Amino acid sequence: MVDLQSQYEHIKQEVDAGIREVIESAAFIKGPKVTEFQRHLEAYTGAKHVIPVGNGTDALQIALMGLGLQRGDEVITPTFTFIATAEVVALLGLTPVVVDVDWETMNMDIESVRRAITPRTKAIVPVHLFGQCANMEALMALAKEHHLYVVEDACQAIGAQYTFANGDTKQAGTIGHIGCTSFFPSKNLGCYGDGGAIFTNDDALADKMRAIANHGCRVRYHHDEVGVNSRLDSIQAAILDAKLPHLNDYIAARQRAAAYYDKAFADCEALLIPGREPHSTHVFHQYTLRVLGADRDAVREGLAERGIPAMVYYPVPLHQQNAYRDPRYKDGDFPVAERLAACVLSLPMHTELDNEQLKYITDNVIELCRK
Ligand SMILES: *Cc1c(COP(=O)(O)O)cnc(C)c1O
Repeated sequence: MVDLQSQYEHIKQEVDAGIREVIESAAFIKGPKVTEFQRHLEAYTGAKHVIPVGNGTDALQIALMGLGLQRGDEVITPTFTFIATAEVVALLGLTPVVVDVDWETMNMDIESVRRAITPRTKAIVPVHLFGQCANMEALMALAKEHHLYVVEDACQAIGAQYTFANGDTKQAGTIGHIGCTSFFPSKNLGCYGDGGAIFTNDDALADKMRAIANHGCRVRYHHDEVGVNSRLDSIQAAILDAKLPHLNDYIAARQRAAAYYDKAFADCEALLIPGREPHSTHVFHQYTLRVLGADRDAVREGLAERGIPAMVYYPVPLHQQNAYRDPRYKDGDFPVAERLAACVLSLPMHTELDNEQLKYITDNVIELCRK
């Protein structure tokens, strides 16, 4: 699915030098590399504050803690997403309220969000699934109307650009009150272990979330609130700082591969290519087909036999996960998400795909869909 070894070969010198610098300085925790990377990521994203943390799940948890939500407050998330989005809501004693997604973009459906709002709703967590922003203009307007916070799960969408009706553009993660991202190795900006970051333009929220990530501490050994321990370590920061200047090229490489896939599958009746969110660029964390005229699992197995990895993200929506079963929801309540879970198939997507590989993949997908 990804080829991190080949990518490393191209940036080995910068990465190795950064790692060596950290080891030689022994500033492993909260070293200058972390601050340098933070500043560079602020410049890249346009976020006023970047708060580096231990991983993307922590970023989401700290964001919700920063909002000071109370037990029982409702937080709206899409039911078709990675589990972390709802996990942190549940862990904090908040109530996850799930909504359906759009068949084309696979992102949160705004009308479903509107219907899910109650007097207890406090926040919405849109997920920019597979690398394109949800309909943020409509979502921000809805949040404003109901005085709700918006925490973007931008773990899959770093670098995606959203264009508002007035022509303003903002990056994924910098549109809502808070944005969260992950530097898990296979993410579009990945480190060589775990990492994550929080974005906000709000000074008070930034101060609070920075303290929460550091045991609720602003002055050493004085704890103003209950916090957690979540840090981006200096070696990971050095790796990310070496990779960040390449991020736009990495995005372009993914978009080139996606364009190849789109063209190859345009006439394949068994498949639907990923629909596009009209106001967002797509950074293709995943290239996800909908397999309609063939047996998805048979296609996947056939590909595996021919040495082509393909994955199902995600086979079970949140409301059908055992840990999140809720008497309010039953099978069939979120028909789009359930239909997607049954038909999605993500193909290899990374920065090192060449035309020969793309041809081999697409030829085989099309052949298996004809069977
Ligand atoms: C990867 C991911 C996360 C979690 O990130 P980690 O760094 O693995 O904790 C959360 N949400 C989404 C949508 C993700 O893709």
